[in-house]
Amino acid sequence: MLRLGIDLGGTKTEIIALNADGSECLRRRVATPGSYAGVLDMLATLVAEAEGELGQRGSIGIGTPGAPSAVDGRLKNSNSVCLNGQPLLRDLRARLGRPVTMSNDANCFVLSEATDGAAAGDAVVFGVIIGTGTGAGIAVHGRVLTGANAIAGEWGHNPLPWPGTGELPGAACYCGKHGCIETWVSGPGLRADHQSRSGTTMEPPAIAEAAANGDAAAEESLTRYEDRLARSLAHVINLLDPDTVVLGGGMGNIVRLYDSLPRLWGRYIFSDRVDTRLVPPRYGDSSGVRGAAWLGALDTD
Ligand SMILES: [Zn+2]
Repeated sequence: MLRLGIDLGGTKTEIIALNADGSECLRRRVATPGSYAGVLDMLATLVAEAEGELGQRGSIGIGTPGAPSAVDGRLKNSNSVCLNGQPLLRDLRARLGRPVTMSNDANCFVLSEATDGAAAGDAVVFGVIIGTGTGAGIAVHGRVLTGANAIAGEWGHNPLPWPGTGELPGAACYCGKHGCIETWVSGPGLRADHQSRSGTTMEPPAIAEAAANGDAAAEESLTRYEDRLARSLAHVINLLDPDTVVLGGGMGNIVRLYDSLPRLWGRYIFSDRVDTRLVPPRYGDSSGVRGAAWLGALDTD
């Protein structure tokens, strides 16, 4: 059966069609309309056009930022403001006349990597997206672990573990607390830490490049960052004990993390030996839309 995956974003929406072996047979990207009715029309059109072109009907999965309810897809915290509070999933099921599965972008990311990506075949996978924010999802035996509150994996607003001198109480976070993991390990978190210590404002890729070129202040900032992220992931590993951690998002492009974090996290993990792997995503920016396609397939196969 054809698997259609849709990545519904705040400004762009992408659809892909996957064959059973994961090969891609269609991909299209359009602007996301600004009204709820417009979004419903756009999604119905994308599906109809894809199926018309390919001559077959598909399963449908949708990935979107925010926190969709598994029951009716009502969204909260979505950056597509017109979708918040709307029963998107219920309306789409009626409109398309078939099951539709929806999950957040971090869950789609981890499902993509656990299905045929960097963690293919692994039993327990923790997928992290670290960029301007910090999202994460969990896949167990090739399925997304959603959880009773649909927040499984969301550890970004737990406090930074094993805080040291100078790390308390930590910066104020938009969630209302102080010192959340996200305020330290997100891109803006690294930028703010580097700025407060060195007085220079640099984006994370520039900090990583400067460190590689021997800039002492950048090296110190990156070293502090690595220890904080290692602690944050060690916390997850102690609880979930995943086979693999996949590190996506902009911060996942800092290559030395794949070497440094596994060297650092051992001292915080309650085991004399740590076999958990840390890997970059196989599909990068395509993981969200591919995971959405697998999401729909799981529901109907
Ligand atoms: Zn927070």
